[in-house]
Amino acid sequence: MRAIVHWKPPSSAPGMDLYTAITYLKGVGPARAKLLESKAILTVEDLLYYLPFRYEDRTNTKRIAQLAPGEMATVVAEVASASPVRLRRSALRIFELRARDGSGATLVCKWFRGQYVAEVLTPGRRAAFYGKIEYDNYAGELSMVHPEFEILSGEEDEAGLHVGRFVPIYESTGKIHSRAFRILIDRALGSAALGEDPLPEAVRARLGLPPREQALREAHFPSPGSDLRVLNAFRTPAQARLIFEEFFYLECGLALKRRRARSLEGIAFALNDAVREKIKAILPFKPTTAQKRVLRQIADDMSEPRPMNRLLEGDVGSGKTIVALEAAVIALENGYQVAILAPTEILATQHYLYAKGLLEKAGYRVALLTGAVTGRDKSGLKQRLASGDVQVAIGTHALIEGDVEFARLGLAIIDEQHRFGVIQRLKLLRKGASPDVLVMTATPIPRTLALTIYGDLDVSVIDELPPGRLPIETRHYTQDYIEQVWGFVSGEIRAGRQAYVVYPLVEESELRDVKAAEEMYGHLSRRVFPDLRIGLLHGRLDSAEKDAVMQRFKAGEIDVLVATSVVEVGVDVANASVMVIEHAERFGLAQLHQLRGRVGRGREQSYCILVSGEATEAARERIRAMIDTTDGFRIAEMDLRLRGPGEFFGTRQSGLPAFRVADLLRDRDLLEAARAEAQAFVEHPPSAEALRSLVGYIKQSWQRRYGLVLVG
Ligand code: ADP
Ligand code: MG
Repeated sequence: MRAIVHWKPPSSAPGMDLYTAITYLKGVGPARAKLLESKAILTVEDLLYYLPFRYEDRTNTKRIAQLAPGEMATVVAEVASASPVRLRRSALRIFELRARDGSGATLVCKWFRGQYVAEVLTPGRRAAFYGKIEYDNYAGELSMVHPEFEILSGEEDEAGLHVGRFVPIYESTGKIHSRAFRILIDRALGSAALGEDPLPEAVRARLGLPPREQALREAHFPSPGSDLRVLNAFRTPAQARLIFEEFFYLECGLALKRRRARSLEGIAFALNDAVREKIKAILPFKPTTAQKRVLRQIADDMSEPRPMNRLLEGDVGSGKTIVALEAAVIALENGYQVAILAPTEILATQHYLYAKGLLEKAGYRVALLTGAVTGRDKSGLKQRLASGDVQVAIGTHALIEGDVEFARLGLAIIDEQHRFGVIQRLKLLRKGASPDVLVMTATPIPRTLALTIYGDLDVSVIDELPPGRLPIETRHYTQDYIEQVWGFVSGEIRAGRQAYVVYPLVEESELRDVKAAEEMYGHLSRRVFPDLRIGLLHGRLDSAEKDAVMQRFKAGEIDVLVATSVVEVGVDVANASVMVIEHAERFGLAQLHQLRGRVGRGREQSYCILVSGEATEAARERIRAMIDTTDGFRIAEMDLRLRGPGEFFGTRQSGLPAFRVADLLRDRDLLEAARAEAQAFVEHPPSAEALRSLVGYIKQSWQRRYGLVLVG
């Protein structure tokens, strides 16, 4: 959020341009300025880029007497009488009004559950009603059921702005509704100098995009003859131009950032036969073709004398960890230290145990640093890091605290990137001269989106699971069938397997969730499985307790592990073959998929059992998606569609900009085009001057708005 622009008295402001504070616009007082600010509208430019979210065809404006049943029409009329009536047969409250426009006829408008409408459409009000005209046989009158409406006031010149055209509909903010936005935007378009078009002429010409000023006018007030469907699909040339523009500068920013990173001096790790032998020596199994391919990409990057910035994508269980450790060996053999960063203590500990097992027998010194390491242990560890005695440090955020120093950090590995902010990535980078960075994510996202969100990273994908894995079978039961589920679990355990039973963790009431898990633990251990060994794992345990439980589960000393969603990420127990997820309706899709990924890691057939209580339609859709596919990429796409990009990526956390015109899902085609154009422009600018001016423009407008830190 930007600084508040202090309100200044309105003036005729002869010199208004895009950067003029919105408060200079006639009609924007302190109260409105505040409301606009909540939509990030601070300047004339912000207002003009506040596009309607849909359009209405009000070109067919008619007098009531001329209406014909079946047509879509707009009527401007006055509310003559209004009365809430009750249907005889049901308790539905219908609000009904009669409107007149002096043409002699009356139009009846009806709303079911129209309480909110009754409050604003009182007799005497003038309004535009838009909808389908029907003939009410019963009353012998023309009517509209649930028409769109907009209250009009006689004070302003409404000719041409609100009716008789394609009308823009804006998302309201407080008391500023579509009508007010139309008036303000029309005024801004009429009085502000919009300046030169920032989009390079050549790009515009190649793609046939209209100039900015024209695009802004058309996007707000489409000219007659526009196609409503194209408008509402946001694909008129005007709209496409504005969407393209937004992506173009974002992609230019990312391209510049990449170019800069490429020009930095980094470590050129030597990759010779001795190093290759060392890598082979730590491998506990034969890598898959995909693992070999991505390691080659990583190794090539590491041997270049510039810092690596690479994203390693792969579905849960695809075997990213071992690839990371192979990369670690390259750095270690070159005399550098390696840091591995994980989002949770459990995951850091898991990585630590896994890495220790493979690396220590090869002679490397490995240490774990989490929030749980304190006092003398911590200061001792920090010393060993600073002296270079510890070669591989694995940890959580504790590892990037200001006072942790490395003697010679050469490679930083970040697991589960989506949980780490960009800031943290930068913090880590500052720990070494210019260490290579490998980011791993188990949320496989579509390529274009990956390129945007991680736009300054190169991407490697593991698209193959280790051999011998059987697809996990996913089933869904309602709570009523829980006894069958327990019966199944107990059968699997008798066959020598282990199981997880997971409860949702809702952050606001962690205590209650823990209690639910504790109760279930009691219930399962006493009633359901009195003869089995049950364990309990939740976020409130201290780390020693958590470790102990995980170790016992790993060692096969616990049959059923009852857990809150702390097991979500990274837990690796190959003998576990059943994942029961209770209250599956409360989990997000990505989370369900991550949880499912905890089983199916061995050679046995594994099962994921979703148990749901009462589920909303959206929850049922998530459950269906889980049953339909085990492909993480498809799951991610669906999740993205269900939740929308903002929530999916956690905009602020991931560093993904909040777009104001574009929509990542809807506008992927334009994103591709913008990316290609931006790359070409940055790599082969028409002139040095053109590139300078691009950098200047991005710094001025885009860096501020999207937090694209070019100098990162
Ligand atoms: P993720 O990509 O989810 O981090 P892991 O690295 O935890 O996956 O690997 C999942 C499991 O598969 C681990 O038990 C790992 O040892 C095993 N694994 C990884 N690669 C292979 C392979 N090529 N062959 C056999 N097992 C493998
Ligand atoms: Mg992992």
